[in-house]
Amino acid sequence: MGSQIPEEFHQFPDISDLRSSVRFDAGTGCIWLEQQRVMLLHTTAFGSLRDELFRSLGTENAKGVLFRMGLKSGEADAHFARRLRPQASDEDAFAVGPQLHALEGIVHVTQVQFEMDIASGHYFAEYIWQNSFEAEQHLASQGLSKTPVCWHQIGYASGYTSELMKVPVVFKEVECIGKGDDQCRIIGKPLKEWEEAEELKKLFSQDSMAEELYSLQSEVQNLREIISPVIPPESIVGQSPSITEVLIIIEKAAKTDVNVLMLGETGVGKETFAGVLHKMGPRRDDPFITVNCAALPEGLVEAELFGVEKGAYTGAEVSRAGRFERAHGGTLFLDEIGELSLDAQSKLLRVLQHGEFDRVGDTRTRKVDVRLIAATNANLEELVQLGKFRVDLYYRINIFPIVIPPLRERLEDIPGLIRKFLDRFNSRYGRNVSGVTDKIMSRFRAYQWPGNVRELENLIERGVILTEDSELIETDSVCMGMPTEDVDASRVTRAGELVSSAGGGAKKNAFQLFIEQGVGSFDHFEKNLLEGALQEAEGNVNKAARSLGMSAPQCRYRMKKFNLA
Ligand SMILES: [Zn+2]
Repeated sequence: MGSQIPEEFHQFPDISDLRSSVRFDAGTGCIWLEQQRVMLLHTTAFGSLRDELFRSLGTENAKGVLFRMGLKSGEADAHFARRLRPQASDEDAFAVGPQLHALEGIVHVTQVQFEMDIASGHYFAEYIWQNSFEAEQHLASQGLSKTPVCWHQIGYASGYTSELMKVPVVFKEVECIGKGDDQCRIIGKPLKEWEEAEELKKLFSQDSMAEELYSLQSEVQNLREIISPVIPPESIVGQSPSITEVLIIIEKAAKTDVNVLMLGETGVGKETFAGVLHKMGPRRDDPFITVNCAALPEGLVEAELFGVEKGAYTGAEVSRAGRFERAHGGTLFLDEIGELSLDAQSKLLRVLQHGEFDRVGDTRTRKVDVRLIAATNANLEELVQLGKFRVDLYYRINIFPIVIPPLRERLEDIPGLIRKFLDRFNSRYGRNVSGVTDKIMSRFRAYQWPGNVRELENLIERGVILTEDSELIETDSVCMGMPTEDVDASRVTRAGELVSSAGGGAKKNAFQLFIEQGVGSFDHFEKNLLEGALQEAEGNVNKAARSLGMSAPQCRYRMKKFNLA
């Protein structure tokens, strides 16, 4: 089609930096646009989906859905744009959006006018669109329209610009091929500067009929869950068949007072499931006390579990109750039970058999009513054979074993777990990190998760701390330990970024060391960098953070990792 572009219009920068961000990976069935997964979709397929939206939702609702769909991809591209051309002028950095729009096969964009000042919130731009795929599809299926039709594209331009400006910016089509013009022409300015601002604002909100349908649907879903006999209590995230099965078993166990043994690898969340069991049963309003036997120093285990009388040993200056007493009427969760000494085991057996125990250094026998949930990732049968675990105790606690599956066997629960941890850490650290990139998600799905849910939790916590508000957590902030080429490359980039934002001799040396020792020594590099900065700042963490271009909490978090602060 004749796309003569008058020379007086702004020429966008060379597009090769964008081209090289697209990566086809047929081996895994993925196409990557930098860290976002994208796909090739036939325009006719999109056209028929678009048609169906118009037919089933009506024109106004369909416009809204298309606009918001465009909005999302515009926002995603804006995250990318912010990183791509850090040295360029605002105008050229902004051009990533229009250029991506063309590269992605949506529309050809020519800039007519461009004014942008993020600080004052000023924005005004005019573009000419040629070869709009959306107008093409609209004309093919619905014929000429009375009003502009490129709603998805308008959403993209609005989402992209709003994300970069950090205020709502709306584009409008003043000419459109879909209504018989020679080209589409769009104008963008902050929402509040449009006369019909109230009307346009509705485009952003999900308060449309379609959304209402979705929310009704999810309400029905919720109601179904409420009346269903298995209620996954909110602390458990899991749609996977293996977790559903575990919850059914837990519910059965909860109805009785039987001793339960939770089995499973480290980090699978045995304590969480024990808590759920407690909450489901008749003791739910009584205490739920937990003890990790591996975390207690050997000499103190008995005192911790059974309490101690004043003067029982040096240092026992007051009498105090042990965990069994504190759990009276409720549930005691004994984690890592395989770590208990044989002495402690025999006392435990006595409580389980007779509900009786003595505090350390006491002559009085006390009575207690406690339900026991034990847990271990050790092979107790083997310990029994080795003579390290009492066989009678083993039979007493192993009446009702429940195996919690490892995370790699319930990968479908990862997105839900990520949401839960994001909520938790966003609120703990007063942050607003919006999610993780598709690339992380795909790497998470391919990962074996030796540390299970706890490992995922730690990664998300780290990601929330290292990521800016309303950004997505990227691979280089969380995938340090995952051995793939991509990660190593991103470590180098990350290291480079740290150095370029830092400057200064100590940091340059650290970077040199890092390069010499190879990508495996990122931690070492990071430590050197932090140490150097801290030294230069004479121990002042805030000052060190400023010199590294980080926020003080980010810096403190990293320093803590190396016991520097
Ligand atoms: Zn148009």
